[in-house]
Amino acid sequence: MLKEALFYKTLEDKRIRCLLCPKGCIIENGQRGDCRVRLNRNGILYTLNYKKITSLALDPIEKKPLYHFLPGSKILSIGTFGCNFFCPFCQNWEISQALESDVPTKTLSIEDLAIYAGEYGSCGVAYTYNEPSIWYEFIKDSAPLVKERSLKVVLVTNGYINPIPQKELLPYIDAMNIDLKAFSDDFYVKYTGGHLLPVLRSIEAAYNAGVHIEITNLLITGLNDSPEMIKKLIDWVHHLDPAIPLHFSRYFPAYKMTIPETPVEHVKMAYNMAQEKLHYVYMGNVWNIDANTTYCKHCGRPLIVRRGYEIISYNIESGKCKFCGEEVDGVFE
Ligand code: SF4
Repeated sequence: MLKEALFYKTLEDKRIRCLLCPKGCIIENGQRGDCRVRLNRNGILYTLNYKKITSLALDPIEKKPLYHFLPGSKILSIGTFGCNFFCPFCQNWEISQALESDVPTKTLSIEDLAIYAGEYGSCGVAYTYNEPSIWYEFIKDSAPLVKERSLKVVLVTNGYINPIPQKELLPYIDAMNIDLKAFSDDFYVKYTGGHLLPVLRSIEAAYNAGVHIEITNLLITGLNDSPEMIKKLIDWVHHLDPAIPLHFSRYFPAYKMTIPETPVEHVKMAYNMAQEKLHYVYMGNVWNIDANTTYCKHCGRPLIVRRGYEIISYNIESGKCKFCGEEVDGVFE
C-alpha cells in the first residue's frame, strides 16, 4: 500500500505542488516530481520509497564523512532510491537516479530498523547513499524510535529541503554531513538542477538548531576549484563557525562526467587556503595521513591520526586535547 506524502498542496484539476524541497514541483495527475519518488495519483501525493531499502551496511562513521562525531564508531547505514538533484558526477547514480523498477529493494519496517540500529556495535542509523530528504516520511517515522533507544541519527545530505519540513525533522537529527557542491549558483543550476541559497540556508538552520554539522565540497577540475570560488566557500564557513569541519573531496570520473580526476595539488591548495581560516580541514580521496589527521586548534599536535577510515592514534580525553587540555569541537565519548 502506498504511503501518502507530507508537505503538498492540491491545485485545480488534481495538479499538485510539492512543498518538500525548494524545487516546488508542480505535478500533473499521474506524474511524478523531479525526484521521481513522489507520485500524484488523483490529486493525492504518494511517496514511493517509504520503507524501501536498496543499500544497508555497517560503516565506519568516518566514511560519511564525520570526523568529529563519535570518531571510531560504526553506524548502520541505509539508503533508498531517488534524488532531487541530477548531478552528472554522482558516485551513487545507480540508486540516486533510479526508479523503483530499476533496482532491487527490500522492505524494512521502522520497528526493525530501530532494533537493528543498536546491533553489532552500531551507534545508530545514518540515512545516506542517496538523498535522504526525499525519504522524508520514512525518516520522520523511524528516527524518533531510534532516538528512544538512546542511539544516534545521522543524515548525509545535499541540504535541499524547505525550511518547514527541515524544522520538523531537525529535533531527531544528531549529526549531518552536508554537501556544499560549489559556491556558485550557476554551478548549482547547471549541474544539480537546484540553487545555492537554499543549501546555505539549510546548513545555517541545522547549525542553529544545534545539530553537529560537517561540510563536504567535491572539487572538480575546472568546474568549481578556482581559488576565487574556494575562497568564497571558506569565508562563508568561517563566517558561520570556523570550528565546522570542512572536507575537500577529490573528484574521480563517475556517471556522465568524464573530466579527468582532480589533481591532488588542487585539493592541497584548497586545504592550505582553508587551514588559514578554519580549525579542522580534511582531504577526501587523497591517500595521505596528514590529509585525514585532526590537529588541535590550540597546540597543533595530532589529536586523531587516521589511515583511511582506521584510527591509528587517538589523543582526546574527555573531549579535550591530551597534550594541552584545549577543548576539541565535536561530539566525543
Ligand atoms: S521533493 Fe521531489 S517532488 Fe517534491 S519538490 Fe522536491 S523534487 Fe519535486
